[in-house]
Amino acid sequence: MEMDLMMKSWIEVGSESDFPIQNIPFGIFRTQDGGARAATRIGDVVVDLHALALDGFFDGLGLPPGIFNRDTLNPFIALGKSVTRPVRELIAEIFSEGNPELRDHPEKRARVLFPVTETEMLMPVKVGDYTDFYSSIEHATNVGIMFRDPANALFPNWKHLPVGYHGRSSSIVISGTNIHRPKGQTKTDTADLPEFGPSRQVDFELELAFITGKKSELGDSVPTAEAEDYIFGLVIFNDLSARDIQRWEYVPLGPFLAKNFGSVVSPWIVTLEALEPFRVPGPKQVPAVLPYLQSEGNHNFDVQLDVLIRPENQQEQRVCHSNYKYMYWNLAQQLAHQTVNGCNINVGDMYGSGTISGPMPDTLGSMLEIAWKGTRPVKMADGSERKYIHDNDTIIMRGYCRKEKLRIGFGEVVTKILPAKP
Ligand code: MN
Repeated sequence: MEMDLMMKSWIEVGSESDFPIQNIPFGIFRTQDGGARAATRIGDVVVDLHALALDGFFDGLGLPPGIFNRDTLNPFIALGKSVTRPVRELIAEIFSEGNPELRDHPEKRARVLFPVTETEMLMPVKVGDYTDFYSSIEHATNVGIMFRDPANALFPNWKHLPVGYHGRSSSIVISGTNIHRPKGQTKTDTADLPEFGPSRQVDFELELAFITGKKSELGDSVPTAEAEDYIFGLVIFNDLSARDIQRWEYVPLGPFLAKNFGSVVSPWIVTLEALEPFRVPGPKQVPAVLPYLQSEGNHNFDVQLDVLIRPENQQEQRVCHSNYKYMYWNLAQQLAHQTVNGCNINVGDMYGSGTISGPMPDTLGSMLEIAWKGTRPVKMADGSERKYIHDNDTIIMRGYCRKEKLRIGFGEVVTKILPAKP
């Protein structure tokens, strides 16, 4: 069922809010005197789904008892879209303008609704496995020009498969988690030997990540046509990277310690259903991809993405305005490729898009590209310059879709880079 785009809630929602009644994202929250439990958000109000369930609002949907009284969404999203979809629709119904069931019962409202300022958001899922793709052609081309050969910027495989690597899930953390500058080995081109110390080139990578809500069996492949059945929703993903550590360590097995000291996600999982009005065609793929990677219909989404840097005690300053629609490889192709060899996927797995850069200079999704390997530093309002991220800089990423009056967003991912631990 398509959600009514004109529907309004009896909870006030500003025109610039990411969370109208058409969004209904899912997250895990806690209040000062309550345990972790599942929630959704409308405007600036967090809705306690466990409290709604205790008041009987979901009776009739046959949900397992206590399904929202958990510190991860994994058990809920594992119920499948035949359950999660009606739950979303019922929530929209409860909060729609003309519905008095909760609206006119202050004692129930007090149990269910919390101002966002009185809540703390937690990791929405327990991430089992994490894959990071490399699916923006502009990003891959820019990196190839900087580090390899401008005439052959893309590796020969790039247009034939969505390149990716298996990352580490233990260090995926929720927005608001601050990350210490990592230490490690680096070696400059002119030095004979590596040195050890804090990274000098801490960077962000602007990404979206999708989360799977359905498992597949070892040995089975998920075709592109079925891939979206396995995808519950998406979050913004700041894949922090230490470029100097990366350059020295990555040969021949790929990213390792430069990429696993912290990746930070936004707290609300925005469902594919909520993103439905924002589907757009992807770039034309030339040469044609192999049959198992061909996909019908539109699997790209028009999500506007901003990256801002806020130096200590300063205003935030935008350094990037990109869009998820630029992705060369779409999420259905990524999941089809992930499973084509029989690799199984689980509920709660996370799949990063890779840095999302676009074709214009202000659409570059990493400091590596924005400052072009340090040759074009960014001027900050206080007169300082940025080639990479400084200690005590806060990185903010925001994402939202807009179509006429409808705005659906992800909220934000905020993380501060602290000095290296002594
Ligand atoms: Mn990445």
